[in-house]
This record gives sequence, C-alpha cells and structure tokens, in this order.
Amino acid sequence: MIYLKTDEEVELMRISNLLVSRTLAEVAKNIKPGVQTIRLDKIAEAFIRDHGAVPTFLGYEGFPNSLCISVNDQVVHGIPSDYELKEGDIVSVDCGAEKDGFHGDSCYTFCVGEVDEEVKKLLRTTKESLYEGIKNAVEGKRVGDVSYAIQSYCENRGYSVVRNMVGHGIGREMHEDPEVPNFGKRGNGPKLKSGMAIAIEPMINMGKHEIYIERDGWTAKTRDRKPSAHFEHTVVIRKGQADILSTFEYIEQITGNAI
Ligand code: MG
Ligand code: MG
Repeated sequence: MIYLKTDEEVELMRISNLLVSRTLAEVAKNIKPGVQTIRLDKIAEAFIRDHGAVPTFLGYEGFPNSLCISVNDQVVHGIPSDYELKEGDIVSVDCGAEKDGFHGDSCYTFCVGEVDEEVKKLLRTTKESLYEGIKNAVEGKRVGDVSYAIQSYCENRGYSVVRNMVGHGIGREMHEDPEVPNFGKRGNGPKLKSGMAIAIEPMINMGKHEIYIERDGWTAKTRDRKPSAHFEHTVVIRKGQADILSTFEYIEQITGNAI
C-alpha cells in the first residue's frame, strides 16, 4: 500500500527532515580523528530530543542507538561504539527522526581528515548518483527509472551497487511501500505519483557488490573489505521535479563540501 501525502503532511515531513539534516550538521562539527562514534550518537540523540522529536532508529527492531554509523568497509547499520575515528577514515552517518507523527531519514558519508583521492571519488560519485536518481523521481516515471539512473551512473564509473539493501517509501512509518532499489530497469516497478514520499539511498561499493552481516546482527560490511559510501535524501514526487525534503546544505556549511 502506497500512501500519497497531502500538502499538509508534506510540510510536516519537511520539518522532520530538516531536523535530521540539522542533526547531521551537528554531527559534522564533531567528526575528527580521535572521536568515538558513540559520542556522535549521543550528540545526535540530544539534539533530536531537544527539538521535540524522537530518534527513530533507537529501538527499531532492537537497534541499540540513534544513529547508524558505518566506517570504511562497513556499508550500513553500523552500531556506534568506542571505536575512535582516525585520519583517512570515511564514515557514513544515517539519521532518522520522527516529529508530529512523520519521519525524516537522511544519510551522509563524511571524510575524517585527509582521505585518499580514490576514496573521495567514490563518495562524490555516490552523492552524484543520488541526484541522478532524484532527477527521475517525478510523476509519470517508475521506481525502476530511479533505480536505473543510480545503477548506470555508478557502474559506468567502475563501482558496484549493493543489492540486499534498498530505499523505501516513508511517512507515518519510517519504512513504507514501495521499495526503491538502487539497481533496476527503466520503465519497471510502481508508477510514481505526485504526493508519494520516498527515501532514495544509494549504497555504493568501491569493489564488488557482495556484503555480509557481522555477528552483531546489524553491521553490513563489504565482502572484499573495500570501502562503501551511502548518501540519502527523502523526497516527494511532483510533476516535473521532485521536492527534496532533506538537505546537505547545513552539513556542507560545516564541511565546506570537502569531498
Ligand atoms: Mg537512512
Ligand atoms: Mg532510509
């Protein structure tokens, strides 16, 4: 069941998503060598609660924290810990918040200090592929058009697309229909209609696409131990152009768009 959102609901979702975006900017201020990832989680949780919202990942199917923090070859769903970030790491920070009944969901992959140019290129390409997907998130197209745009953009540049994890509809629930894979065929899948809200989230690997889940039951890692990047926006389907509800603007005011 795909729920179309009213204009009022979209404005509530915008508030939730902008809070997520501002939370990620608070996290960005604290990303540096020597910082434990659990510290970033605490900063985010406090910021979300101070703004009258609830961190949605906390307790979701038993997830123990407010952020998913995935370092280097960790793809997604990394659990914040006493791991200290070090120069040259990349760190994906995925954040979800609920306010007034509606969810926001966004993710950004950060550089810790100086990062290899080759790895930065993975980050840039992943972020660019997100916007290629968003260009196709318009009324009259299909989910497969979004998927194909992301897949072809990344594969043409020598990267691979994670298969087992996908984007999703979002609204009153963090995960709603439809699924939004980052791979697929043009013209396939559910038709996109004005008012549909989806989280588009390419997870792109430097090496091969295969991943596995660690013994903690959550952390997804690349099998070949090469790095992986993840960027996510929540968008609403509209005629002509999607309405992007989250933003990287606050983050990049802090990071200076360093990638
Ligand atoms: Mg997310
Ligand atoms: Mg998501």
